[in-house]
Amino acid sequence: MKDLDNILNTLTEGEDGYTRRTFLANTGKGILAAATLGSLAACDTNAQQKAPTSPTDKDVHANSITEPIELKEIADPSEKKKEPFPAPEAPDKRVGFALVGLGNLTLGELLPAFGNCKYAKVTALVSGNPEKAQKVAKQYGIPDKGIYNYQNFDNIKNNPDVQVVYIVLPNSMHEEFTVRSANAGKHVLCEKPMSVNSESAQRMINACEKAGKKLMIAYRIQYEPNNQKAKEWTRNKKMGTVKIIDAINTQNQGEPGQWRLKKALAGGGSLPDIGLYCLNTARYLLGEEPVQVNATLFNTPNDPRFKEVEETVFFQLQFPSGALANCTTSYGVHESKRYRCHADKGGYFGLDPAFSYHGLRMEGSQVQDGMEVKINPSAGDKNQFALEIDHMARCVTENKKPYTPGEEGLQDHVIMEAIYESAKTGKPVKLKKIDKIDAFRGTTPDELQIS
Ligand code: NAD
Repeated sequence: MKDLDNILNTLTEGEDGYTRRTFLANTGKGILAAATLGSLAACDTNAQQKAPTSPTDKDVHANSITEPIELKEIADPSEKKKEPFPAPEAPDKRVGFALVGLGNLTLGELLPAFGNCKYAKVTALVSGNPEKAQKVAKQYGIPDKGIYNYQNFDNIKNNPDVQVVYIVLPNSMHEEFTVRSANAGKHVLCEKPMSVNSESAQRMINACEKAGKKLMIAYRIQYEPNNQKAKEWTRNKKMGTVKIIDAINTQNQGEPGQWRLKKALAGGGSLPDIGLYCLNTARYLLGEEPVQVNATLFNTPNDPRFKEVEETVFFQLQFPSGALANCTTSYGVHESKRYRCHADKGGYFGLDPAFSYHGLRMEGSQVQDGMEVKINPSAGDKNQFALEIDHMARCVTENKKPYTPGEEGLQDHVIMEAIYESAKTGKPVKLKKIDKIDAFRGTTPDELQIS
C-alpha cells in the first residue's frame, strides 16, 4: 500500500491533464492495493494507456488505448510540430507472428522492429538450429511451445497464438513455406523476392487463395514515409511530370559460398535481390506498369562469386505515360542505394539513401526566385519494418487485402524474366500494356493515402 501511495504521489495534480483522481478512477485503488510492486508497474503503464485524451472525456470505449496520450506543448509554436506519442494495442490484442528463418534480417532488423510495432507481436520462431532458437526465444520472451523446426513446422496449425507466418528464408524456400503455412491455416508475410520465378509465385498465390489466407510481400519501401512522399510528389506532379527515374542499388558481396550466389537457392544474382528495389520502386512511384524493357548483363571474368548468378545488370523500363526508368544493380561494387526523379518543371527529387534499412533521406533541387536551391524535405525516420509488419497485422484484424499482395510480387517476377530475356537476346522485350494505375496493389490504407 505504501508503494501504491508513492506511485500516486508521483502523479502531480493537473500535470499533463492527468490527475491522481483520474488515476484512481481508471484503475481502482482496491485492486491495486492487493497487487505486488511488479504488477503495480504494469498497472501504471496500463493506466496511462487507458487515460482519456482530455480530463473531461468520459466516453472511454473499448479501443481507446490506441488514442495517443497528449502532453502539454513546450516548444514555441513556430517549431516543427512533434509526432503523436506511440499508442500501441495491448499485447493480448496484437496479432501473433511466427518468424521462419533466424538469419541476418530476422536477428538484425525484424525482431528488434517488433519493439516498434503497435499491432503485432512475435509468438513463435522456426529454425533449423535448436540452440539458436532457444537462445533467441529467451531473448525475446517467446515460450518453448512457440519453437518449431523445419520438420515439425506443420504443427503450427495447432498454435492459436500464431496468426501470421513471416517467411525470411533463402528465396527458393519461400514457396514451400508459403504453401505449408496456408495449409496450416495461417496468413503469410513473405520476404522479397517473392520466389525464384513467376510460375512459383503464381502457385503461392493459388495456395493462399485456396486456403482463404492473406499473402503479403514484404516491400518495406512502400510503407516508408520518405518514399511515400516521393510517390506523392510524383503523382501530384509537384515539380511537373516525372519523365526519368534514375535508380541504383549496389553492394559488394563477399564470401563465394553464400546462398545468394547459388542459382538454385537465390534464383538469380543482384537483380532479384537488390535490383528489385529499383524496379519495384519505379513501379510504385509512377503507379504504372512497364510496357518494354531493355537490359544488359555483365560478370567479371573468373570472379569465383559469379559462376552461377549475375554480377551487374543495367536495365531500362519504359512506361505507358512515356516515363523512363534507368536502373543499375551490381553485387561487385561498393554500396550505393539511391534514386532521383527528374521532372519537367524546375526541379528534381529523390532519396539518398533510398533502399537502406535506416536513415533514409529525401533530397532534391528546386528553382526558387530564379535560383537553383537544394532542398531536404525529410519525412522523418520511422522503422519501415515495423510499419510493414503492422500493416499486415491490421489487414488480418480488419480483414483487408494487403497493399503489397502476392500479385505485386508476381508482377516483379514477370518483369525480371523479361529483363533476363532482353539481356540474353540483346533486344528490347515488350510486356502486356496495363492501363490501370496501381494495378497489382491492394486498397491504399489510410496512413498511405496521398494528401
Ligand atoms: P540469411 O542467410 O542471413 O538467413 C537465412 C536463414 O535461412 C538462416 O537462418 C539459415 O539458417 C536459414 N536456412 C535454411 N535453409 C537454408 C539453406 N539451405 N541455405 C541457407 N540458409 C538456410 O539471409 P537473410 O539476409 O536473412 O535473407 C533471408 C530472406 O530475406 C531472403 O529472401 C532475402 O531476400 C530477404 N531479405 C530481405 C531484406 C529486406 O530488406 N526486405 C533484407 C535482407 C534479406
